[in-house]
Amino acid sequence: MLFERKKTDFETQRKSMVEKQIEGRGIGNQKVLGSLLKIERHRFVPLHLKTVAYEDRPLPIGYGQTISQPYIVAFMTELLELKEQDSVLEIGTGSGYQTAVLAEIAEKVYSIEVIPELSERAKNLIEGLGYRNVYIKIGDGWRGWKEYAPFSAIIVTCAPTKIPPLLIEQLSDGGKMVVPIGSGFQKLKLVEKVKGEIKIKNAGDVSFVPMIKKEDKR
Ligand code: SAH
Repeated sequence: MLFERKKTDFETQRKSMVEKQIEGRGIGNQKVLGSLLKIERHRFVPLHLKTVAYEDRPLPIGYGQTISQPYIVAFMTELLELKEQDSVLEIGTGSGYQTAVLAEIAEKVYSIEVIPELSERAKNLIEGLGYRNVYIKIGDGWRGWKEYAPFSAIIVTCAPTKIPPLLIEQLSDGGKMVVPIGSGFQKLKLVEKVKGEIKIKNAGDVSFVPMIKKEDKR
């Protein structure tokens, strides 16, 4: 009984999140809206934060990292203009929430996370939820995932100081990438590859955790 009531509460909160925070702020892509309406965000946050899982803000997920604010997840996903047959690369699996949003829309999702504990947790959760089109690995996203390239879309959810050259290389022709660039507050860049040419647009100011640097000199 108690469980049922809680479940309905979360559903109501999720619906209100989508209407007010997402649709209310101009996100109109039905696939994105449907995905956020379906995915149980409260499963992706620590136990003590479940009651605030649908609030308009990022939340801590441990190891100094955060699950992004719902609006930012929706905004970045919408910018990618995903199609059913797309193969998407995500850098910064974190909680796995954005991964699930992508997996609802695209054919395949490849996600890289540098912190092993977060990667393991997200992998178990994503598998437990029944996604069979998601491939998760531990590693440095700066280098991308050459084995499965090219990708029709790339989303980076941690902030490097410049656009990682290997990610541009691994973007397919006609593909789109969203990546926050800079330290402190960042500029969200929308990178498009059109007939081999790279076009970069600014898509607004955002705030992400920095991309952790591994051994490469950047
Ligand atoms: N999309 C995630 C956001 C997590 S925050 C979510 O909604 O939950 C960004 C994540 O990027 C963190 O988990 C952090 O550990 C990871 N990260 C930082 N530097 C990285 C790197 N070089 N390669 C891969 N992941 C990285």
